[in-house]
Amino acid sequence: MKTKVPQATDPCGVAGGKSHPAPSSGSFADNVPDHVQIQTITGCNAACLFCPNGKTRRKIALGQRMAPELFNAIVDQCLDLGVRRYSVYLMNEPMLDRDLPRRVAYISARIKKPQYVKVTSHGGLLTERMAKGLLDAGLDKLKISVQSLDPGTYWKIMHLRLERTLKNIDRFIELKQRGGYKLPRMEIVMVDSIQTRGEIAHIRRYWERRGIKLYVEPVENRADQTGIRDTAVGAEKLRAFSWCRRLMEQIYILHDGRMVQCCADWEQQSIMGDLTSQRLADVWYGPRYREYRRRFAAGDVRGMICEACRKQPPPR
Ligand code: SF4
Repeated sequence: MKTKVPQATDPCGVAGGKSHPAPSSGSFADNVPDHVQIQTITGCNAACLFCPNGKTRRKIALGQRMAPELFNAIVDQCLDLGVRRYSVYLMNEPMLDRDLPRRVAYISARIKKPQYVKVTSHGGLLTERMAKGLLDAGLDKLKISVQSLDPGTYWKIMHLRLERTLKNIDRFIELKQRGGYKLPRMEIVMVDSIQTRGEIAHIRRYWERRGIKLYVEPVENRADQTGIRDTAVGAEKLRAFSWCRRLMEQIYILHDGRMVQCCADWEQQSIMGDLTSQRLADVWYGPRYREYRRRFAAGDVRGMICEACRKQPPPR
């Protein structure tokens, strides 16, 4: 079924589109978006302990896809708005989408530095076909979440087979080297959990030997997901925090074109707009978003999903 895409209007509302205030650096309410995350398919086949996937009150259907014309129109509007980072994933495993390389190629053909296109994945579906597709598509950055190098711990945290993921990564490196591709830059990411803190030094050396940088991120429970309160256990206590780039600079678009306030809004409590009937610029600079940003900057988050956001302090 074809998705209806709203017709192009001028992103600043000057040439006949719905008007919205011009962005100004002095006002948080009018912040310019820097990143976009686009969900091209729903769901994930892993079950990470610290991730709300599979633990939400709302049932998330697996494999619902974004229509190609909607995807292309969204990317075009992001380009008009000056978005710098294009992340082709959102609350999902992006490699479930067999069209991922084509979507990446659509973006990479239209951006230039410092803009870039990025995919974050668990790597378990980084097959030979997907690897070649992403290399040819011009992906700039590939981030893979590998939570442990101990097969038992890895299984306990992610419910995936470590051996397959490591094989996929090694094969990807080989294809990249053999093909003479300069990009994507590869990164490995893990969280600083009680299960793995003791392993981090060894894990870092393993990836360094392959020329890959390891990023260790703090455990989070953004927007307070009740389903992970007991399992998202950081090596240190999770704390509230007072500033958020996600609300101020980042756009999050679900597979059906609806925009959510945050990449942690798994329950879809805070829908900001619908890009099947609205222009992106009109939503981002519209009254609801502006009011949320103004209130966050003023420290008034009562009733917002931000009220119970928690994360572990960054590792020292
Ligand atoms: S819930 Fe609010 S404060 Fe927390 S990460 Fe999302 S936008 Fe930021």
